[in-house]
Amino acid sequence: MSISKLVQEQKLYFHSGATRTIGFRLEQLAKLRDAIISREAEIMNSLRKDLNKSEMEAYSTEVGFVLSEIKHVMRHLRKWSKPQRAKTAIIHFGAKGKIIPEPYGVALIISPWNYPFQLAIAPLIGAIAAGNTAILKPSELTKAVSSLLSSLLSDIYPSNYVAVVEGGVEESQELLNQPVDKIFFTGSVNVGKIVMEAASKRLVPVTLELGGKSPCIVHKDASLELAAKRIVFGKYTNAGQTCIAPDYLLVHRSVKDELLALMKKVIHEFYGSEPVKSPNYAKIVSPKHYSRLISFLQEGHIVIGGQVDPSRSTIEPTVIDDITWNSAVMQEEIFGPILPVIEYEDISEVIQAVNARPKPLALYLFSNESAVQELIMESISFGGGCINDTLMHIASPYLPFGGVGESGMGSYHGESSFNTFSHMKSVLKQTNAFDFSFRYPSAKNGLSII
Ligand code: NAD
Repeated sequence: MSISKLVQEQKLYFHSGATRTIGFRLEQLAKLRDAIISREAEIMNSLRKDLNKSEMEAYSTEVGFVLSEIKHVMRHLRKWSKPQRAKTAIIHFGAKGKIIPEPYGVALIISPWNYPFQLAIAPLIGAIAAGNTAILKPSELTKAVSSLLSSLLSDIYPSNYVAVVEGGVEESQELLNQPVDKIFFTGSVNVGKIVMEAASKRLVPVTLELGGKSPCIVHKDASLELAAKRIVFGKYTNAGQTCIAPDYLLVHRSVKDELLALMKKVIHEFYGSEPVKSPNYAKIVSPKHYSRLISFLQEGHIVIGGQVDPSRSTIEPTVIDDITWNSAVMQEEIFGPILPVIEYEDISEVIQAVNARPKPLALYLFSNESAVQELIMESISFGGGCINDTLMHIASPYLPFGGVGESGMGSYHGESSFNTFSHMKSVLKQTNAFDFSFRYPSAKNGLSII
């Protein structure tokens, strides 16, 4: 079926009203949950094939992640979808205000390759919960997962309700030219701009989940052992190919050596003495991405790691010292297992340097001092993040997840997903029991209040 026909069929189905009842939405979410559970092994195999994700990583960051999101959404959906009463102003005496969440219609979801299952399914959960139909365009770089998504979703849903369009730039652009009602895009900043431009032609509401360089700050008073463990976890999960991975380390001069020594020990504990051959360590997605990352190893002084294995497309967890803000590795999002280190003396240097760059998607601060915590939270704008941890904010269904400025716009997860895929329709229901004549124009006195 052509892409334009698919969109037309979804529009027809949406306008039939079939997707509107809460019972229908809950039933579709239950089908999705059951299909994921029954095909879990296949999903894990596809993730192993595309990215060499270990079972533990694949479950915690992809399969388990979306299953708990479905559970959370199903538990709260009736409450979220109920029209909310709104207060009325004195001029509306006697009337009632209501905010009614309504689905947009056909939602287009374009997703990237790094968490290819989770980043396609998590927005789909929101689209279904809010009562939309949906078209998914997974990444062409993770073919096994893309074809699995197509098979899994076409088994449980008719294409006029939920469909997968596999392919790359061409298919993506054709989809962007269709009269869809909502676009949800996850990917790079550059493609985000293309998506927003396309959306502007039809004034389609758009959510952009983008990337960028997320700083990780370790202050002099931090609990260094915990910091080392949590930074290694956040940076080298999925071999650094995580949108919210700590991109670079800003560490207080007085604790740098100790922190790096601790990180070296933790890397060894997590991935063994030869991480490039570890079955628990993800590979780099493509030869092109691999060579881009290797080029970053030329500058600075490698203090941890540095080994590569082109035959397995792996790069050892690597830390590079003697890096400056002008180094090549500091000019773009790294998106791989390479962590540059820049030291500082005064926390004000950190604030000034981060604020001079695009607003990050995530920021991590390791410090026990509440004054330092407050200072950083108040002085730097970023999408979301953690104090004394990395990545974990993404796993809370109670925290809206998204970027700000160049790292994105809009948010999702939990109730925020429902809101992202809903239009909040404001309605004032007027009383007919009485009427204030002073609100109308009058030829007699010429008085008009409104
Ligand atoms: P990408 O922007 O290259 O691709 C994302 C999607 O857009 C893919 O489906 C791709 O086919 C499509 N696409 C690519 N070029 C296009 C074009 N010219 N026109 C229309 N569609 C196009 O991103 P990627 O390499 O797959 O993912 C990595 C990026 O995504 C990183 O920047 C990362 O930070 C970001 N990311 C963000 C989040 C988040 O939640 N904020 C999550 C994961 C990844």
